[in-house]
Amino acid sequence: MKHISLLGATGSIGTQTLDVIRNHPQHFKLVAMSAGKNINLTRKIIAEFQPEFVAVQEEEDRDSLRAEFPSNIKFVSGHQGLVEVAVYDKTEVLLNAVIGSVGLYPTLEAIKAKKTIAIANKETLVTAGHIVMAAAKENNVDILPVDSEHSAIFQCLQGERAASIQRLIITASGGSFRDLKRDELKAVTLEEALNHPNWSMGSKITIDSATMMNKGLEVIEAHWLFNLPYEQIDVLLHRESIIHSMVEFEDSSVMAQLGSPDMRVPIQYALTYPNRMTLPSSTPLNLAQIGTLHFEKMDMLRFRCLKFAYDAGQAGGTMPTVLNAANEAAVAAFLKGEIGFLTIEDLIEKALDWHRNIIDPDISVIHEVDLETRKYVNTLF
Ligand code: NDP
Ligand code: MG
Repeated sequence: MKHISLLGATGSIGTQTLDVIRNHPQHFKLVAMSAGKNINLTRKIIAEFQPEFVAVQEEEDRDSLRAEFPSNIKFVSGHQGLVEVAVYDKTEVLLNAVIGSVGLYPTLEAIKAKKTIAIANKETLVTAGHIVMAAAKENNVDILPVDSEHSAIFQCLQGERAASIQRLIITASGGSFRDLKRDELKAVTLEEALNHPNWSMGSKITIDSATMMNKGLEVIEAHWLFNLPYEQIDVLLHRESIIHSMVEFEDSSVMAQLGSPDMRVPIQYALTYPNRMTLPSSTPLNLAQIGTLHFEKMDMLRFRCLKFAYDAGQAGGTMPTVLNAANEAAVAAFLKGEIGFLTIEDLIEKALDWHRNIIDPDISVIHEVDLETRKYVNTLF
């Protein structure tokens, strides 16, 4: 029986993680969880899974849940609550599925408490990858990927020597606007941006997919998870999302991981690694029916956010922190209807130009730069 803490239980990855836990009650137990503001769903999750420890964002919600549920369930709130859930003493695996760099501190504290980390929360690795990976090494803790591309690469690497990797090939579906030209992007609406062709996901990552920033964040995520320079990480447009990513080895052999798009597969693999388990109601891949798979070179001029991410990753220091914070602030503004779609990339570009890079930042510098960048971006519209 594996004891799991789940951050972001009410989200897209969170609810799919609960489905994996629900399918294998003899193997997994949800001992602690966090939610944001969706208290109705939080109530249902508590009633079904009976976790011992629950964090929510607001104090008011914490107090009303305390009044409703038996006193053996502990309720906490705020950022500190996320950390407490992450380091809960009965927890063995932390599955981090919150959105944004708010996931950084809980991840670091869980690493120090020697919890295995299953990471969906890519913003944490983008904003402070050097700190997270160093802490994991120092504490001898595994960081297991949940993001489908990184899980695919991780699966392709089983039994291989790291030194024989030539290149990672991360596939990209292209997002909601893959068939539009740049000048056609000026007038797109929020509703259109939220309509992803292949995956149903939370709203922030769906917008990140439409701007291609999601792929940019994934390139930086791959750099840290697999310890490879950016020159060895490529992105390939693959509209069907059947090949979830590939690894090319020194003998030119290429390994790929395939499957029908279903995030429960990488979530479950992170929880069962190095083993596999059945996945009820999953869709077996029918390649004869699919018939053809398509691949195209990525156009960095069309998808400027991908270029920003490669540049920020290569510059290192605090540039990835700025990239991530500016993106979070810009996407939040777009989701509120305050800016147009193409303004997202303009704001990120301005923030990257404005910032003076700080090499080898510690956690307090990262925190400051993150806050300053958000503030700066919010003055631009
Ligand atoms: P969602 O927006 O669906 O869920 C986010 C979760 O985090 C919710 O539980 C939400 O709570 C909670 N949350 C949001 N803000 C805060 C906050 N400030 N403090 C505490 N909790 C908060 O996101 P996704 O599930 O789509 O994505 C989660 C992570 O996984 C992201 O980093 C994303 O990039 C990554 N990912 C997602 C994939 C997907 O298919 N969705 C695929 C690969 C990676 P509430 O709703 O209760 O307010
Ligand atoms: Mg992904």
